[in-house]
Amino acid sequence: MNQPANDMKDGMEAMAFMNGRPTKFGLIALTMFVFCMLPLTAAGAQRPAAHLVLIDPAHGGEDSGVFSDKLHEKDLTLNLAILIRQEAQKMTGLQVQLTRSSDRRMTIAERIKAVGTTKADCLISLHVNAGFGKKATGYEIYFPGFQQEVSGGKDSSPIIKDMTRNKSLNDSVRLAQQIQSGLETVLPRKGRGLREAPSPLLDAMNIPGLVVEIGFATNPDDLKKLTGPKTQKAIANAVVKGLQNYFSSLP
Ligand SMILES: [Zn+2]
Repeated sequence: MNQPANDMKDGMEAMAFMNGRPTKFGLIALTMFVFCMLPLTAAGAQRPAAHLVLIDPAHGGEDSGVFSDKLHEKDLTLNLAILIRQEAQKMTGLQVQLTRSSDRRMTIAERIKAVGTTKADCLISLHVNAGFGKKATGYEIYFPGFQQEVSGGKDSSPIIKDMTRNKSLNDSVRLAQQIQSGLETVLPRKGRGLREAPSPLLDAMNIPGLVVEIGFATNPDDLKKLTGPKTQKAIANAVVKGLQNYFSSLP
């Protein structure tokens, strides 16, 4: 367009320009769009609005938990936790952190502290079951017990505390149901049900929490499944789906 040689060329170039306009406009629009989206993308990277789930691989370090020559509970729980974190990374709106991401011993107090420091929305503690002979099989999901609730006091703070606690207990049951629906797809008819039980970890928290005993190391069929990478990945996937359904079902 610098030095048009004739009208014809001028005209062609004008047409080219006109034809180019939508593209240029497109580019400008795209650039503006990208610029507009930048803060969102940057914020999205930190995912401040994402639901944060703390996955707690039980045991660790010199505390192996249940173990045999084929399985160490501390290793399986860590492996599953890492897989759950990986699966969650593929999702939007869900962020997973682990109480431990290496083979180290952690006290219950340290795990409880992690709930506070991460400001997690909920926690799932992963375990492997053992015992009751070789026949016992399937996963179990424990949520904290309601019966431990003590209301009262002269000022309102214990009542408010109880209300918060009751909400998290109700949400723990919802979470348990969603995780159960997820796990049923991987380990059908293997659920030994939802169980209310006292747990030093769950009882100390003011957020919804579960203990999931993913299967029995003492049952040959469970052991075979749990040590298989395919089932492990499917379990991780099921847990993440359960978490997503839980968060979307919240009132
Ligand atoms: Zn355990």
